[in-house]
Amino acid sequence: MNASRHDWTAAGLAELDETIALRRAIHADPEIGLRCDRTTAKIKAALAGLPLEYREGPSTSGLIAILRGQRGDNGRTVLLRGDMDALPMQEETGLPFASTVSGAMHACGHDSHTAMLVGAAKALSARRDALPGTVVFMFQPGEEGHHGAREMIRDGLLTDPAPDAAFALHIYPNAPAGVFVGRPGPLLASTDTVHATIRGKGGHAAMPHDCRDPIPVACEIVGALQVMIARQVPVADPAVLTITQVHAGSSHNIIPEEARIMGTLRTLSPATREATRAAFRRTVEGIAAAHGMTAEVEIDEGYPVTLCDPRATAMMQGVAADLGAAWVPMPAPMMGGEDFSYVLQEVPGAMAFMGVAPEGSDPASNPPLHNTRMTIDEATMARGIAMHCTLAERYLESGFGS
Ligand SMILES: [Zn+2]
Ligand SMILES: [Zn+2]
Repeated sequence: MNASRHDWTAAGLAELDETIALRRAIHADPEIGLRCDRTTAKIKAALAGLPLEYREGPSTSGLIAILRGQRGDNGRTVLLRGDMDALPMQEETGLPFASTVSGAMHACGHDSHTAMLVGAAKALSARRDALPGTVVFMFQPGEEGHHGAREMIRDGLLTDPAPDAAFALHIYPNAPAGVFVGRPGPLLASTDTVHATIRGKGGHAAMPHDCRDPIPVACEIVGALQVMIARQVPVADPAVLTITQVHAGSSHNIIPEEARIMGTLRTLSPATREATRAAFRRTVEGIAAAHGMTAEVEIDEGYPVTLCDPRATAMMQGVAADLGAAWVPMPAPMMGGEDFSYVLQEVPGAMAFMGVAPEGSDPASNPPLHNTRMTIDEATMARGIAMHCTLAERYLESGFGS
């Protein structure tokens, strides 16, 4: 691995004060979903005056900023992504810049992701003369279940210019500050939501033979689904199916007309995703039919598996080493989901986590992502900026071959 030609660690540190100020402004004013317009306005204000072109689409408040390097154009384009949206929860950190929006909180660190990406855009703009290709900065709302990346892709925002590689960072409060954590291949799971309605025939609870009772059938289906996961899914390519809701009935003496179940289906490969969706449908419909009932199955499409290209992960690991940062290989994927997966379906790339445990804290016991008390070591953002910038420069110079 060649040493970086530029001291990106120093560049990241030079951006730190403004990055912290921007992160705090976004943190205090969180927005949820596909329209984070106040956040977009803050990003535009922070980028004002830089030599960037912009693209926006109708479906979201997402923003694409394009930096065209001036050292000749070798045709490479690299995308760096930062998500922008917050979560529907009430902050309890007690920070002086805590959320001023009731019921909204940046508990997944997307405030810091956006601020770091702005910092990287500024630092890379200052080195525009030395860049031999194009950098695309993707500011994306709606990561928390709203398919923001998919909407931006459908709006055509990844076509002009089309990136050849993509990278993203996600902060992680349960790892030491400044450490990077990642793995090649599946990093995060697909996240489909499954629903089934079992339709029987209601009537008097004392005369079940005159009815078709959907409750024991729903119970049988829940058990059979666990057997399906245990016996039909390869152990080396696993799936999780958790039934999280069961609804039926209204009284002690009435057999209800129908029973409904709902849950989450998580997988680590497109093949197992497809197979377990089909098996869910088959199991529900088959057991209902065996008892003379019908079932209606619905599967809400969640995020795809987040699949990291091994070359891109190796590049992140190499850059971490050059920045003097530890790289901690993740032994197994996490079963959470991430909509950067949509970008990785379009172009090869990788995501890594960056430890942000506050100084003096015990990483293992820190409030995790999506917790009302989640906090970060802000100084670590300098390293995140350095990671973004080094990845961009290195990819433009040598592709994945560096
Ligand atoms: Zn999240
Ligand atoms: Zn997140």
